[in-house]
Amino acid sequence: MVVAYNPPHEQTASVYATALAQFDRAVRYLNLDDGVAEFLRYPRREFTVNFPVRRDNGKVEMFTGYRVHHNTVLGPSKGGIRYSLAVNLDEIRALAMWMTWKCALVNIPYGGAKGGVVVDPKTLSRHELEGLTRRYTAELIPLISPNMDIPAPDMGTTPQVMAWIMDTYSMTVGYSVPAIVTGKPINIGGSLGRNEATGRGVIACMVEALKGHGSGKSATDTTLVVQGFGNVGSNAASFAHSLGYKVLGVSDVDGGLYNSKGLDMPAVRAYYAEHGTLSGSKLGDEVTNMELLALECDVLAPCAMESQITGKNANKVKAKMIVEGANGPTTPDADDILLDNGVFLVPDILANAGGVVVSYFEWVQDLQAFFWDQEEVYRQLQRAMARSYYNTEATAEEFGVDMRTAAQITAIKRVADALETRGFYP
Ligand code: GLU
Repeated sequence: MVVAYNPPHEQTASVYATALAQFDRAVRYLNLDDGVAEFLRYPRREFTVNFPVRRDNGKVEMFTGYRVHHNTVLGPSKGGIRYSLAVNLDEIRALAMWMTWKCALVNIPYGGAKGGVVVDPKTLSRHELEGLTRRYTAELIPLISPNMDIPAPDMGTTPQVMAWIMDTYSMTVGYSVPAIVTGKPINIGGSLGRNEATGRGVIACMVEALKGHGSGKSATDTTLVVQGFGNVGSNAASFAHSLGYKVLGVSDVDGGLYNSKGLDMPAVRAYYAEHGTLSGSKLGDEVTNMELLALECDVLAPCAMESQITGKNANKVKAKMIVEGANGPTTPDADDILLDNGVFLVPDILANAGGVVVSYFEWVQDLQAFFWDQEEVYRQLQRAMARSYYNTEATAEEFGVDMRTAAQITAIKRVADALETRGFYP
């Protein structure tokens, strides 16, 4: 019997409830021992830290950070660090669980983790951001190492933040350890192709999905709308544009831009780089984020954050295909509505796995101190994404389920099989 997990710090609006609902939906198809299924629902470790940061005005302010290791059966835990005011333990717990399934699905030897600090990084000076990152890293030292847990960027964090993490860890142990973190700048052991990897992977999945589940239109006739203009959304939209797809709409936190003839993506990126927002660009009509999700298009790629497509707005989605660049953008009630409406959905743990795939390549390169050229990174990324996409499709056919459930089945089975081989300790 799979029972509800009652965590010690239960939160109200629960992203973790979404992660558990997805797990419960999939696990029914696998004849797992009850103990194994139950074990996989729990995070292995949860760490909360409250720490001080001295602001530039001399005042000390307290911040709260988290790191959750969901599962380590397949290897060291892997996952990003998020800086956002929306961070809470429930969210980090869900994101850590999704990392476990994501790494298992794309067959890289990692467990899942996630971390975060409750902060709006835009309100900190560069000096304050560095201080916050170094202190948070110092607090994480007992939990991270290249063999134990390897952080990476996520919402609100950058290659520079990863550089400070790498430096803080390295200064503590007394020698340079590039493999402690991925998504670093290239000049300190980062991988070519890592920065754009998640966005490229999203579009690689879309291209494969359109082959079997599209209307047969050419790229130039296929329309795409992308929600979110951070690392994932901006790179997905640009890569799709470079392949000839028509990007009708993009958005950031302030709102969206829509152009029925297709947006000029290089111009949109240049405007964003200069102004830090899409608002006021005149490169398209301004729409709200909710209007953007309901635009007429072939493919919708939610690349912003969790719980964007819900029971309230799923019926308004006109796209025939959804490719999830964000983690957890669709709630379980929305999944049911989309399925009823015949929308083909490529789930997050598959569609956005390109980031962690190239993180894995970065870690391998760091450990070997042998670096690949960009073509090699792109080629291996493409291979990993296509292989994972068709594995998931094969599982969907075998079990007669949707792609999200199929991705979860494939991933849970890999972890459960490894757990069975290893056995429970002691
Ligand atoms: N934060 C990214 C994700 O959600 C990347 C994680 C990683 O590279 O470890 O997949």
